[in-house]
This record gives sequence, structure tokens and C-alpha cells, in this order.
Amino acid sequence: MASLSPQHILHDVFGYNQFRQQQQAIVEHVISGQDALVLMPTGGGKSLCYQIPALAREGLAIVVSPLIALMQDQVEALQQLGVNAAFLNSSLSAEDNARITRQVVSGEIKLLYVAPERLMVGSFLSLLDEVQQHVGLALFAIDEAHCVSQWGHDFRPEYRQLTVLHNRFPDVPRIALTATADAPTRAEIISQLNLDNARQFVSSFDRPNIRYHVGIKNNARQQLQAFLEREHTDDAGIIYCLSRRKVEETAAWLVEKGWPALAYHAGLPAQLREHNQRRFLREEGIIMVATIAFGMGIDKPNVRFVAHLDLPKSMEGYYQETGRAGRDGLPANAWMVYGMGDVVSMRQMLDSGEASEERKRLERLKLDALLGYCESTACRHQSILRYFGESHPGACDQCDNCLHPVETWQATQVAQMALSCVFRTGQRFGAGHLIDVLTGKLTPQVERFNHQQVSTFGIGKTLNQAQWSGVYRQLIAAGFLETDMSGYGGLHLTEAARPVLKGEQEVWLRRDAEPEKKLSKAERS
Ligand code: ADP
Repeated sequence: MASLSPQHILHDVFGYNQFRQQQQAIVEHVISGQDALVLMPTGGGKSLCYQIPALAREGLAIVVSPLIALMQDQVEALQQLGVNAAFLNSSLSAEDNARITRQVVSGEIKLLYVAPERLMVGSFLSLLDEVQQHVGLALFAIDEAHCVSQWGHDFRPEYRQLTVLHNRFPDVPRIALTATADAPTRAEIISQLNLDNARQFVSSFDRPNIRYHVGIKNNARQQLQAFLEREHTDDAGIIYCLSRRKVEETAAWLVEKGWPALAYHAGLPAQLREHNQRRFLREEGIIMVATIAFGMGIDKPNVRFVAHLDLPKSMEGYYQETGRAGRDGLPANAWMVYGMGDVVSMRQMLDSGEASEERKRLERLKLDALLGYCESTACRHQSILRYFGESHPGACDQCDNCLHPVETWQATQVAQMALSCVFRTGQRFGAGHLIDVLTGKLTPQVERFNHQQVSTFGIGKTLNQAQWSGVYRQLIAAGFLETDMSGYGGLHLTEAARPVLKGEQEVWLRRDAEPEKKLSKAERS
């Protein structure tokens, strides 16, 4: 098999005619023996990026993967295609372990999936030495590489020791893959895995087949039922809830209503969790009601919808969770309803957590960015991509805002006040302080900086604190302001704010977030 070209392997082994986007470039790069860092959205086709080089190069390929379920699925899928793949993890009996080890050394196995903790065991490293001598090592693939990031939800400390592989086998190419796009995580992967010289392959994170919808919650269950009846009577989907209790209650309620729903959260017995996950993967049209414990590595291409009954924690979370829909490229829905009550309980949860003050501040900023997205009137595809530093022309015709433009109100004057207050106070304060200045509150901080003297002090008394918060969130989401995520959450103006301040551009904010009654007629017109 070693002499086959990537194109042949793609066709003969995997049954596909064409590479997608950057797959070919990545595959060729790794086959030539060089390191790669691959950032590709969920469903983009990351697996082939290391599976094809594994088959094209001499020797054994090692794939580091964080979840046992994920390994099993991948190995089974490869075996069905006739590829000699196996996994080593704690779920195996001593016998199976010994058998697979023998096959590895004799060169029978081409791809070996292992858990990160296994790699660190001395005996495994000696096994790799032996393999290197006899059959050679084709590559190291590090899947879900964002697990090295200690800021992330999926942090796995063992991932931080993976440089051992490189130190011991410096000539074996490495390919690290992740669907987590944001810049800090990317930087952490590069430094923790020592991938400074790896070529980066960054795909577009757009998911054009996903139709985004974000609505205001009034009766969540009724809204969910209407959505399911209208669009997904026979489809597989995932419904995310924040708490375990809500997962169970929602699943029970759906079953009562005749929907094939199952529950999944970390508090359920392992056996039941596995059973439910298997049913979701194997059977058609199952609805999984789950906390975010469910999802990573779930390779089910035909998930037709992801619904959120509670807000995710951040844009990253929202993107990852909704990204589990439509991996097959066919139309899928990302549907969410949220209410201000959720925001309050979410904030309380963040505040009462164990995390450091610095961490909490960052989490609050991330939640605000997500709220800004919810409230935004702009194209959802565009807003999501902007958050990840990518541009999109807008007008996608695949989101609620483009399909049914929301009612907006003329908020130019209010926006000018908000932006000008940022400017006058030196572009380094967060929304909380800016709102105190606008509404004329003499707080100790206002006095300390002498902000009662700035021209915007007290000019915004027509709106209350909550209304101003909404205005700031929407201005951030629309790209007029940026938050300093590494510091205290200070806001600064972007280039886009200039024409607004100069009176050359109007600003419209969404009507359902519009301040009630308080605005004068002139401001509304
Ligand atoms: P990721 O790991 O990036 O989430 P996968 O590797 O699981 O994505 O691929 C997602 C789906 O796309 C899988 O069903 C896979 O078989 C399919 N796929 C990947 N590459 C191609 C291709 N070149 N042509 C057709 N289907 C592909």
C-alpha cells in the first residue's frame, strides 16, 4: 500500500472521488515528512488528513485521541474499510492488549489509536522504540489538539507531555488537529506541542449548510415542539440544556409527547451513557437531550439539528455545539431560544464558581460576546466568522436575520453617546464603568478618574443600566467596539466607529432589545 498515491487511497480505500478544500495539501505535506497544524471546523474532514498519510507512508502511525468512544468508532470504521487499525486503552483485557502489541511489532497494524496517558508509560515508549527499529513510525497524529489548552472545557493535562514523542523521535512527522479556532488556543497548541515550525493549515470556519436561528424565549417547550414539528419530525438531533436536571426533565417530557428522546449527562451511570450514545449513533432519528458533556468526537454525519434551550457559555461553545449539526454537508438547523433570566443565572453561576477572579472576568466577557451575537441584527454567518477573525460578505440567506430581517430602531444618537463615552474616558474602561459615567453615577471609580468632568457624564439618563448594557453588547457584536480580553475587559473603538461618531453612518439596533418608553420621540424617529 505504501506506493499508492493519496488520490488512489482516497478513492480505493475511502471511496471518495475528490479531496475537500485543503485536505490534499495537508496530506501531501505530511507524506513528505513535515509537521502540520490543522485548524478545520467540525465535519471538515480532519480524519483523512492523517489517515491517508498513515497509509501512504511506511510504518506505523500513532494517533493520540482523548476519548475511548471516539477511538472505538474510528477504528471500527477503518476496519470496515479493510484498514488494519487498532486501539490501546484501559478498556482492553490483558489478552487483547498483548495481541495488539504483537501485531504492532510485526507490522500488521498501520494505525494505532492511543489515549494520551498511555503514551507516557515507559513500556509504551520502549514499544515505540522497537517499532521504529523494525517497521518504522509513519507519523504522530494528535487529534483534538485543543485539549492542551488549560483554559478550555476539554483540558487534558497529559496532552502537555506529548512533546516527549518529538524529543524521542524527532524525524517522525507530526500532525496536530483541532476544530477550536480562536487565537489564544492556537498559540497555546503551538507552544505546548512545540510546533513552531509546523505549517498551519487554516480552513474557513464557515458552515454554509447550517441555518442559524436565535429567538427570545417565552415558552421554551412550546417553541421547541413547534420547531420540531415544523422541521424535524423524523430527524436525529441534539438538544443542549445547562443542568442535568433539566436534561432529564426535558427528555422525559419529549418521550411523553411521543418523541424518541434519550438523556445524556455526566451524572448518569457510565453504562447508561454509553448505551444512549450508541443508540444515538446507530439508530435513525434519535433526539439526544444532553449537557455539554455530550458531543466531543461524536461522528454522526446526519445530525439534522442542534437546539439550545439554554445559552452556551461562549461563542466558542456555541460554535462547537452547533457545529455538530450537518457534518454531511446537507442542510441542518442550529436553533436557540434565550431569555434574560438565563443570562442572570449564567452570570450567577460564573460568579459563584471556584475560578480565579481573572478567569471569571474572562468568562463574563465571553458570555457578553455571545449575548451581543444573540442580539445582533447582522447576518449570523458573518457575525460568527467575525468573532473568529474571518470575513464573510453577509446576506447568507441561511439565518433568521437574513431570511426574516428583525425590526430595528434608529439608535444612531444613542450609539454616538456610547462610543463617545468610550473615547472621552481614554478607551480603557469596561461597559460597567462607562454606563456609570453615561447615567451620571458618582461612584468611587468615577471620582478617582475625575470622569464627572468628561462631556459624556450624565448625558444618557434616558436609558437605564440594563438598556445601556444591551446597547454596548450590540455595538460590540456589530464591530464598532472591541473588548480587551487579555486585560480588564476595557473597550476601545474600531475603525468602523469613526463614521458613526462623525455622523456619516446610521446605527440601527434590534427592536426586541429596544429600551421601552424611555426614549424621546426625536430619538425614535
Ligand atoms: P472532522 O473530524 O473534521 O469533524 P471527519 O473527518 O469526521 O470530520 O469527516 C466528516 C465527514 O466527512 C465524514 O463522514 C467523512 O467521511 C466525510 N468526508 C471527509 N472527507 C471527505 C471527502 N474528501 N469527500 C467526501 N466525504 C468526506
